[in-house]
Amino acid sequence: MYSKNAWKKYDKESIKELMKFNDEYIEFLSENKTEREITAFSVKECKKLGYKDLNDVKSLKAGDKVYAVNRGKNIACFIIGSEDILNGINVLGAHIDSPRLDIKQNPLYEDSEFALLDTHYYGGIIKYQWVARPLAIHGVVVKKTGEVINIVIGEDDKDPVLCITDLLPHLGKDKLAKTANETIEGEGLDLTIGHMNLNQYKDSKLKDEILKLLKDKYNIEEDDFVSAELEVLPQGKARSMGLDSSMVLGYGHDDKVCAYTSLRAILDTDKVTRTSCCILVDKEEVGSIGNTGAQSKWFENVIAEIISKMKNEYNDLMLRKTLSNSYMLSSDVSAGYDPLYKGVFEAKNASYLGKGLTFNKYTGARGKSGCNDANPEFIAKIRKALDDDNVYYQTAELGRVDQGGGGTIAYILANLNMNVIDAGIPVLSMHAPFEVVSKVDVYEAYLGYISFIKNIK
Ligand code: MN
Ligand code: MN
Repeated sequence: MYSKNAWKKYDKESIKELMKFNDEYIEFLSENKTEREITAFSVKECKKLGYKDLNDVKSLKAGDKVYAVNRGKNIACFIIGSEDILNGINVLGAHIDSPRLDIKQNPLYEDSEFALLDTHYYGGIIKYQWVARPLAIHGVVVKKTGEVINIVIGEDDKDPVLCITDLLPHLGKDKLAKTANETIEGEGLDLTIGHMNLNQYKDSKLKDEILKLLKDKYNIEEDDFVSAELEVLPQGKARSMGLDSSMVLGYGHDDKVCAYTSLRAILDTDKVTRTSCCILVDKEEVGSIGNTGAQSKWFENVIAEIISKMKNEYNDLMLRKTLSNSYMLSSDVSAGYDPLYKGVFEAKNASYLGKGLTFNKYTGARGKSGCNDANPEFIAKIRKALDDDNVYYQTAELGRVDQGGGGTIAYILANLNMNVIDAGIPVLSMHAPFEVVSKVDVYEAYLGYISFIKNIK
């Protein structure tokens, strides 16, 4: 059903399944905030369902289920189909990194009897949204021995939280006269992490006390920050939002909401005709670069391995044919139409919370620059599949022409000659510490992804 209120599809009975799915999503979002945590979660869920590590499998046949992991930060899981893989695969892709603050490599300093940690923001954040709110630290510290220490500080009720302080309005004359973008500077986003220097250590500096605490509690020494990946992000759980609990407020819907629904669509599917895959990538928010971003050769390598294990032979042409014949939903959140900010949208071509899965034929900015412009032949197949399965969907552009724009991973996979279209779930307050989605869109997207892997060929 195109561009209609998807809530109307449900009644008191049928809404239960939708609400249950969203409860599971809320739990996932509360427990998994980083790319590493989501990859680990995905592996655990795959294993529960009998998926095998691709490395442990010698050959593959229809019905087999396998997963591959890249450096703990990407996962691809596959259901092997009955059809020849050279006819292509159906891919659901999403990214699992979200905007945040990363702790610098030499972060710790002391000033005016406070200990602070210096950060560098990751992705497109609005800086003033990150001050004066409880923050947590998630990540890893890798010791010189290779030992990996997993860190989560601030999520357990017994944990302390961290915070970046803000200036009181009484003394804000100069600061508040600045533009919103300048009012908090990137170098000003430093976490206050300690203040107590007891008399018993009267000769010691506060910084030494904090180092002692880090050593005792987490086995981290100052130089270990050099080989660490520590992410500062909003503390706390995702929650149902609205008096009617129709929405979800949480950190990192962009793009964990598409990642979760894509993953679930694969995990909840048993048999497929075309080999189907869910791939979750890192680094989208900083340009999809690096060996864990969508531009990495890793995904091609995995597909090459799948082909060779299915066919007991391999050449490059087989890989190229498979990629060219593949279909992909590059799923990433859309800017939801917000009645408080109508002016930046073009109402006919905006993505509305409550109208289901959103397709962006193209993204890009200023004359569609940098976009993957999906082919109408491909879009027509999707329309048919979704209408046949009674899935609610809509189409949209990212805001008014010339207002701004954005990109996703779609063009990267399209460069492999796959058929790719941007799909996703509308979000309010995108890139803010807490973002908003509609529960009906979460569920319709899940149904849409299932329809895609089942029907598109
Ligand atoms: Mn995104
Ligand atoms: Mn984003």
